Amino acid sequence: MEKNKVDGREASKEKKDRRQSLCPVSGKCGGCQFVDMPYKAQLKRKQRQAEQLLKEYGKVRPIIGMEEPAHYRNKVHAVFAFQKGRGIVSGIYQERSHRVVPVESCLLENQKAGEIIQSVRQLAKDFKLKAYDEDSGYGLLRHVLVRVGHITGEIMVVLVLGSPILPSKKNFVNELCKLHPEITTILINVNNKRTSMVLGEKEQVIYGKGYIEDELCGRRFKISAKSFYQVNSVQTEALYAKAAEYARLTGKETVVDAYCGIGTIALAVAGQAGKVIGVELNRDAVRDAVTNARVNQIKNADFYQNDAGRFLTQMADAGEKVDVVFMDPPRSGSTEEFLDALIRIRPERVVYISCEPETLARDLKYLTGKSGYRVQEMTPVDMFPFTGNIEVVVKMQYCGKEKN
Ligand code: SAH
Repeated sequence: MEKNKVDGREASKEKKDRRQSLCPVSGKCGGCQFVDMPYKAQLKRKQRQAEQLLKEYGKVRPIIGMEEPAHYRNKVHAVFAFQKGRGIVSGIYQERSHRVVPVESCLLENQKAGEIIQSVRQLAKDFKLKAYDEDSGYGLLRHVLVRVGHITGEIMVVLVLGSPILPSKKNFVNELCKLHPEITTILINVNNKRTSMVLGEKEQVIYGKGYIEDELCGRRFKISAKSFYQVNSVQTEALYAKAAEYARLTGKETVVDAYCGIGTIALAVAGQAGKVIGVELNRDAVRDAVTNARVNQIKNADFYQNDAGRFLTQMADAGEKVDVVFMDPPRSGSTEEFLDALIRIRPERVVYISCEPETLARDLKYLTGKSGYRVQEMTPVDMFPFTGNIEVVVKMQYCGKEKN
């Protein structure tokens, strides 16, 4: 009896919280953890967390936050599903499940992208397209991805389909562009696998040039559908500025940009270095990086498609000299192969950009324990307001004498 009372009280409190929440689906959608926490408190919490995980390696400087944290995401994704009584819905997976929570608008996402997703859903209804069903594998429309160029305003829409044919393709494109003339390109991506990955291999451009361009740090970047591009453009500039400050380039250095994506860091610092070498696994991203060097008339940058660990090992085997390494691995962090090669090449400075402080702490432990590298300082940058994700940039210096 007592327990039921407590449960009842909790349930009504939860209901009240939900009513007061800035977001109608908070608590259901796994997208953000701190949607109702004042922004200053979010920053404080992230600062404390970064310090707890990293302070044993060096000083953690105050986190760089945003002035206007809402609607920062330039890449917006929605999944489609059929729900009884509602028809086709678009939204986000519920946390740790494959149930779709319908989303009408979102505090994180670029608003224009959100509106386009609503239109795609409405057109799907009008054109009687079926949502893909993950259990049976039947249906057509799986996901939609919208990318918006922060400075250029160019917009890419990627329709992810379970099979390659979009019925009445031309009309669908015409209608969508009529509703949103700001769309500059539309692609179909075919994903016919039973997978939680959003994008499949094959793609087909059905409107425009097949990619968008944006500007970052005064450079122009080509961005393909499958290439990684930082989702928060405002904070990316702050992050890169801090990374460049930590690299202390003088114009002569040989620089490696490992896990370089479309070459943004390499090309942002190329003017302050002798030579920059980017390495990246994703073929499309490397292609974009090569184009981006040409478009920005940067002649001292080379890009290679390879595993960063293997590439760095080859450089170490060849006895290549490198002065500064930027490394920006995915959430899983770097690898022992990469770190061992880094120690062998022994650049003067290493700037480690991490989107996952736990794997960063693991890699710092390995690096500082085995070699003469010391962390000089670290700065968290809030790339993902309202979520629990923390980004940190680390300045490391070779201080001599390896430990045994
Ligand atoms: N520095 C870039 C990209 C960072 S995201 C930027 O700021 O935009 C991490 C990148 O690492 C992604 O582009 C991903 O494709 C790439 N990547 C993942 N595993 C890799 C590996 N083993 N070797 C090289 N690149 C890898």
